[in-house]
Amino acid sequence: MSLRLYDTASRKLEPVTSTNGTTTMYCCGPTVYRDAHVGNLRTFLLSDLVRRVLTVNGVNVKLIQNITDVGHMSEDIENEDKMLAQAKAESIDPFTVARKYEAGFHTDLARLNIEKADAYPRASESIELMLAMIEELISKEFAYVGEDGTVYFSAQAFPSYGAISGNRLDALKPGHRYEYSEDGAKRFHADWALWKNAGGRKEMIWDSPWGPGFPGWHIECSAMSLHFLNSHINLHVGGIDLRFPHHENERAQSNAITGNESVDLWLHGEHLLFEGRKMSKSAGNVVLLKDVIERGFDPLAVRLCILENRYRSQMDLTWASIEAADSTLKRWRKKIKTWGTQIPVKDAEFLEILDNDLDTPKAIQYLRTLEKNENINNRAAHFLFADQILGLDLAREEVISALTLEQEDILKLRQIARNEKRWADSDELRVKLEQSGLEIMDGPDGQTWNWR
Ligand code: AMP
Ligand code: ZN
Repeated sequence: MSLRLYDTASRKLEPVTSTNGTTTMYCCGPTVYRDAHVGNLRTFLLSDLVRRVLTVNGVNVKLIQNITDVGHMSEDIENEDKMLAQAKAESIDPFTVARKYEAGFHTDLARLNIEKADAYPRASESIELMLAMIEELISKEFAYVGEDGTVYFSAQAFPSYGAISGNRLDALKPGHRYEYSEDGAKRFHADWALWKNAGGRKEMIWDSPWGPGFPGWHIECSAMSLHFLNSHINLHVGGIDLRFPHHENERAQSNAITGNESVDLWLHGEHLLFEGRKMSKSAGNVVLLKDVIERGFDPLAVRLCILENRYRSQMDLTWASIEAADSTLKRWRKKIKTWGTQIPVKDAEFLEILDNDLDTPKAIQYLRTLEKNENINNRAAHFLFADQILGLDLAREEVISALTLEQEDILKLRQIARNEKRWADSDELRVKLEQSGLEIMDGPDGQTWNWR
């Protein structure tokens, strides 16, 4: 079998295609004005999993992921670029902001064992590509220059608009917020900006045939995907919120240029919630990978939690599930060392589970069953094969670290508090120990500890 995935446009499972022996993949990347939270990382992990499954199936893959460092307007602050708003907040140059969070994005990917894409083109360095595309769209009469000097894509010039999301033009009412405030000199309410006139803006602007300005958000993904992937994308990945308008507009732009269907399969990952609510700044429940590490957990525990959920379902992450995944990883790593030769051997049954629309929860269940089955000859071979896709570092040697002097002191103080029946003090010291990464158990012979 080969990999089949759910295509948002056709609303059914489709085989992943390739062109001249290579599957071309494009994944919408981060807007680098803040740290990526674990929700964003769930989406980036999706393209990694797909690529790993294809690779293990013997398919050559080329993956491109863009870095949005200009042109993504904020929903909160009327018509303000997310980058410029953050630059103002941090009192630094917007490009410094962009590079800082771009570096953080790469650190997070490495911590989650997400393999590197073939290229990470930046929007700010792809302006020429975008300008050439916009000129072509104007000459093909898919775009026009508004009276305000902004260039718009004409939604009505593209008859199949709405094929991915189902949002057909006749059903889209004027006044609906298609994307932020972009009323300007549009001829039709669903048109969108390809190139925005600079107006009063002084930073992050470039010259263009229509005067100084900056690109709209959607055009960068059309320009980069077609340029880097030889004008055809076999598989396009992003979070579910990007289905409309971002991917609908991207499809219109790209197809208008190529004259055919430029993407074979649109894959969307569902959102991650945290403790029952959508992760967002306003809900106050944003979790970064560094928060997970600070609590003493392996960041790959987050990877395992994500794998335990199907990519097409919303998932709820909690500290308890991260903790449970962390101990599963430790247990597996220890057991594998005792299970025979440490060489992966192809497991067709395991691969078939993933080939069927990336059924990672079933794949994890398969491993849990295997773990309990004493009759299987070399369980290490199965686990290490699985790990080529799951990326959980199962061959890693678990290092048992020594206690720090401070932890030793607190343990002694706590034992004294317990001997003197000062329970409140004992509880306070337990919290301190737990925060430092230890787990404390009280038994008839006194306290014992473990690394969490
Ligand atoms: P951004 O950096 O905001 O442009 O988002 C980067 C990626 O993260 C996009 O593909 C979004 O669809 C995705 N995304 C945003 N929020 C979540 C979430 N809570 N869970 C999963 N993916 C998300
Ligand atoms: Zn995109």
